[in-house]
Amino acid sequence: MRRVSIFGATGSIGQNTIDLIARAPQDYQVVALTGAGNISQLAEDARRLKAEIAVTAHEGRLENLRAALDGSGVAVAAGTAAIAEAATRPADWVMSAIVGAAGLAPGIAALEQGATLALANKESLVCAGALMLATARTHKARILPVDSEHSAVFQALVGEDMDAIERIIITASGGAFRDWPVEKLATATLKEASSHPNWDMGQRITIDSASMFNKAMELIETKEFFGVKPAQIEAVIHPESMIHALVGFRDGALMAHVGPPDMRHAIGYALHWPDRRHLPVERLDLAAIGQLSFRAPCETRWPALRLAREVMEAGGLSGAVFNAAKETALDAFIAGEIGFTQMSEVVEAVLDTLSAAPGHIDAKMTLDNVAKTDHLAREAARSVINRRAG
Ligand code: NAD
Ligand code: MG
Repeated sequence: MRRVSIFGATGSIGQNTIDLIARAPQDYQVVALTGAGNISQLAEDARRLKAEIAVTAHEGRLENLRAALDGSGVAVAAGTAAIAEAATRPADWVMSAIVGAAGLAPGIAALEQGATLALANKESLVCAGALMLATARTHKARILPVDSEHSAVFQALVGEDMDAIERIIITASGGAFRDWPVEKLATATLKEASSHPNWDMGQRITIDSASMFNKAMELIETKEFFGVKPAQIEAVIHPESMIHALVGFRDGALMAHVGPPDMRHAIGYALHWPDRRHLPVERLDLAAIGQLSFRAPCETRWPALRLAREVMEAGGLSGAVFNAAKETALDAFIAGEIGFTQMSEVVEAVLDTLSAAPGHIDAKMTLDNVAKTDHLAREAARSVINRRAG
């Protein structure tokens, strides 16, 4: 039996992971399941999957969780430290599916115990890619990508020589506003930004898809994970979301990964790797699909893509600044404090301020320094937001 833990179990990726694991309960011993506010979902899954421990991020919800799991034999805990501690429980395979920079510490803890980390939490690579990879190397742990584009690249690279890679092309659906007139974007509402044309995902990543901050993060994630140069990474708009990524080799060949927009494919690939097993995803009927289309991304419509290039070039802790500023700007958009197009303005202002001040983005990449930089960038973002909202 494989020992598995799921961080962010109550979210969209977490629930898809549970869907796969619950189909073969005899194969898995569930160690830890974690969530935040949705206590009833967390408790229901922990009971059903006979988890060893259920942890909520909210300390104030511990008693609710305890009551919901009374008599089940599942241990309970609460708080950020308890989540990181749960990641030290011996496990063979750990799903990292918390949203945001909060996923970094448990991811590092899982790598430190040598677990295979299935990484949906792209924020940890954006904030601290070098640290994640170094931790994996030191502890002989493995990181397997779960973001669909990165899983696609990873699969296209099986058996290939890394030196033969010329470029990596990441596709983007274009999100909710790909066909809107650019002038109208400033008026986009939360409801409009929260609906994705192709994928069913958590609210934050859905809005990040509309602003293309999600793709921006994925470009940085590509650089960190595959160790290629920024100039080798491209994005292309592909509204059908059937091709998830392509790898171009030095002989001119492009290897594309094609599949339905269903995260259970990338999750299942990471779960069964290096095997390929049957997965309950739709089989594509290419004749029925008819055609696939592509277009160049426009950086006026999506300034996040330009900012990602700057972050990739700057390196160091600029990814941590970018992510923290983005998370804060997203919170402010969700709270109605700023408009849709102001999110990228806030992120750009914070990047400019902190890049100009020595000691921030060039500090040594440790978990502590990433946390400090994250904190500073959130404060800087709040002050930009307050100025704009005021
Ligand atoms: P979601 O919002 O649906 O779920 C997030 C999970 O994190 C929930 O379990 C929530 O309880 C938990 N959580 C939230 N804040 C927390 C905190 N401060 N501390 C601890 N736990 C916290 O998000 P999602 O769409 O499942 O995305 C999860 C991660 O996977 C993100 O990094 C996202 O970018 C990435 N991802 C998601 C998809 C997708 O299809 N949903 C695809 C690719 C990558
Ligand atoms: Mg993705």
